Amino acid sequence: MTRVSAAQLRRRVVATAKEMSARGLSPHKSGNVSVRCGDAMLVTPSGLAYEGMKPDDIVHVGSDGAVRAGEREASSEAPMHLAIYAARPEAGAIVHCHSMAATALSTLRKPIPAFHYMVTVAGGKDIPCARYQTFGTPALAKAAVAALKGRKACLLANHGQIAFGETLDEALSIADQIEQLARMYLDALQVGKPTVLGDAEMKRVMKKFETYGKG
Ligand code: 13P
Ligand code: ZN
Repeated sequence: MTRVSAAQLRRRVVATAKEMSARGLSPHKSGNVSVRCGDAMLVTPSGLAYEGMKPDDIVHVGSDGAVRAGEREASSEAPMHLAIYAARPEAGAIVHCHSMAATALSTLRKPIPAFHYMVTVAGGKDIPCARYQTFGTPALAKAAVAALKGRKACLLANHGQIAFGETLDEALSIADQIEQLARMYLDALQVGKPTVLGDAEMKRVMKKFETYGKG
């Protein structure tokens, strides 16, 4: 595997954050993006508009939460990102955002059920919702890790959503798909009670995804 330099990773974090914003997933300055970098992470700064963000604005934060390099203050959700990297060795990058439909649904404090088979994009038969906790707290970090058990994405009650992947592209793609599914589910809820696929069918779907698109 080719090693990617920290400078390159900084550029990729900025590009991903700008793309998240351009896709309308992070209204105003909400959300944050990080990538694992050895035993640390590179994360977007707190409260800075994505528009003019530069690689030097990205903050290098150690697994103990200490800033190793960077002029800016690290994202207020750095504890949540670090907790996910610690709990999930397969996580290489994380995208958190307040995308509109996912955030609207997060206020119901319920998982998005299998109203469409593609909910498996989050890794299982539904998209869970983490318990409400104040933003930027270790309690929210803990709640997110708990909700992500067996999943790559979840809603955060009265807040938004979070997704991780092996790469920045994968994390952003999952967050984008979570938002699209949330939009569809909200639309369906306007006109009736969506039929939810059963566990046996979702097991079949998950089995098919073990090989789908990989050949
Ligand atoms: P930061 O700007 O500190 O990353 O916070 C944004 C956010 O989404 C908090 O939950
Ligand atoms: Zn947030």
